[in-house]
Amino acid sequence: MHDYDLLVVGSANADLVIGVERRPGPGETVLGSDLAVHPGGKGANQAVAAARLGARTALLARVGDDDHGRLLLDSLRTAGADTSGVLTGGAPTGVALITVDPSGDNSIVVSPGANARLAPEDVRAAAPLLASARVVSLQLEIPLETVAEVVRAAAAGTDGRPGPRVVLNPSPAAPLPGEVLARCDPLVVNEHEARFLLGDDPAGGSTEPEEWAAALLTRGPRSVVVTLGERGALVADDGRTVRVPSLPVGAVDTTGAGDAFTGALAWRLGVGDDLETAVRFAVRVGAAAVTRAGAQQSFPTAEDVARL
Ligand code: ATP
Repeated sequence: MHDYDLLVVGSANADLVIGVERRPGPGETVLGSDLAVHPGGKGANQAVAAARLGARTALLARVGDDDHGRLLLDSLRTAGADTSGVLTGGAPTGVALITVDPSGDNSIVVSPGANARLAPEDVRAAAPLLASARVVSLQLEIPLETVAEVVRAAAAGTDGRPGPRVVLNPSPAAPLPGEVLARCDPLVVNEHEARFLLGDDPAGGSTEPEEWAAALLTRGPRSVVVTLGERGALVADDGRTVRVPSLPVGAVDTTGAGDAFTGALAWRLGVGDDLETAVRFAVRVGAAAVTRAGAQQSFPTAEDVARL
């Protein structure tokens, strides 16, 4: 019996946001708006997105013993996520310092803080949590060796039982070892991540997402999902490629849309949907998330998605 449809292993950050007329140059100071502090980080975002939808979900992450850590724990608990796997201490909570100019463009400095201390030992110590989940979802805002340890544990399983299915969104984009790629089912990428992973591959120069997906499949993942913003998403596995169009919504703020999409997708796989069905649901969740401002505070409930 599994306790969780989804275990997210990843980052938790406090997003510190200041609106500015323009960014300061070197040595310069500018005045900005009042500070807004929001819970964020791709791991926490995915866990909140899934929990809001009704998933039995847990997060394995690390935060500091500080106000930002408490803000993140509070947001996760309010959404209904299990935080027993959120470790505390070792460094301050990760922070993203974000300035937003009047045109809506962001400049961001990230201090990984406690996220960088989420170690392979923490994954080994959390073996029961991993064994109790049907799906584990990963991103790259924690050390790659920690991601690789989760993938190895999922591949090994527990007491002869298979480990969780692995969903990976390689963001921020970084080179991936073959042993990690080979377990992804699916690898979830946006255009930028697809082109980064393809590197010099001729398919990376194509404008056709079908070609990116086909080329990425030759690198080892069992399936690939390409997110295409307002154009929806594409699913590819076993020589079959399907486009899933988006819903026409008035987009207000796309922050966190990718995390809402991936959290929803991973949850639906955890409750037994096939990949295409899960992507069709996730596209609706992504569309709902862009109709409201912010990241975690914009994520829809199941009722919001049904109303769309
Ligand atoms: P972000 O980094 O902004 O969180 P991303 O680049 O990882 O996002 P996107 O492809 O922009 O990912 O968005 C993820 C999903 O959210 C899309 O596949 C789509 O389903 C939905 N989505 C994003 N933007 C829109 C939009 N303008 N209208 C409708 N749906 C959208």
